[in-house]
Amino acid sequence: MRKVLAADLGATNLRAALIGEGGDVLELRRSSTPRQGVVDAIVRLVEDMADRVSSMGLASVGPMDIRRGVLLNPPNLNEHGEIEVVGRLRDRLGIDVVLLNDAVAGAIGEWTYGAGKGLRDVVYLTFSTGLGAGVIIDGRPLLGRRGNAHEVGHLVVDYRGRIRCGCGGIGHWEAYCSGSGLPKLASLVAHEHPELRGHLGRAIESGALPDAPSIFRAAREGDPLALEVVREFSAITAAGIASVASAYDPELVILGGPVYLQNRDLLDGLLGEYLPEYSLDGPPALAPAVLGDLSPLMGAAAAALSPALAGSAAQTQ
Ligand SMILES: [Zn+2]
Repeated sequence: MRKVLAADLGATNLRAALIGEGGDVLELRRSSTPRQGVVDAIVRLVEDMADRVSSMGLASVGPMDIRRGVLLNPPNLNEHGEIEVVGRLRDRLGIDVVLLNDAVAGAIGEWTYGAGKGLRDVVYLTFSTGLGAGVIIDGRPLLGRRGNAHEVGHLVVDYRGRIRCGCGGIGHWEAYCSGSGLPKLASLVAHEHPELRGHLGRAIESGALPDAPSIFRAAREGDPLALEVVREFSAITAAGIASVASAYDPELVILGGPVYLQNRDLLDGLLGEYLPEYSLDGPPALAPAVLGDLSPLMGAAAAALSPALAGSAAQTQ
């Protein structure tokens, strides 16, 4: 059986695995993303497995240039400037390396091994620290010029721009509906609805900035402000999903990332309620990512097995 290595370099977590061609995870390793030296950290995690394979797929936070195999000053890593990853990993490990954007990898993973298996047109959205997307159209991943297509987290969902995004733009989807955006959304809703004064409202009033898990927890406990934040999150996200569906005409929109997958009990009903309001020709079919937090890693494995999926055969030479 042919085997490949796969790695997923996220803002917080670094995962790597030895994966068989049928998608079996033979060995899975996790560590935290280091502040400096991401290439060294990947090498440490996989080097004792490298002699069993001839290629590795690397899913990474972007932005990047897949033609040159480099990361371009990624805002979610602490290592700045241009980071050469493909050439250095290839030299250190002695195997071919294929680089791709982590959300694109998530789409390829779900399309090859998960919820989108057998379909031709699939959109994958991931709600994590940020909000990203990967798109498969006509049975092919869309990559863009440098591999940075589908920055849908920066679609404008609020033209009045009540919240400024980490990128500097105003009214972007990610600024409201991601792990990093939810605290800002909660503050905004608290400001706009002073009558909603539960535990969460009082915490915000005293200067706290509650994180995403505590907002969802408060909603489950019936906190009125938290419930309004979850409703607003769902309405904005339904608008974003409808816009993405209008752009790509997918058979299925797959929703992943911890902010969505851990809170489906609160979100699914509301999304179903709001989505028809914003959709062209009926709401798109939705499904949760079945590979959980391993979707990008599995997509990296699929790209190592079929480098054409990641666009550039030149990457592997
Ligand atoms: Zn933005």
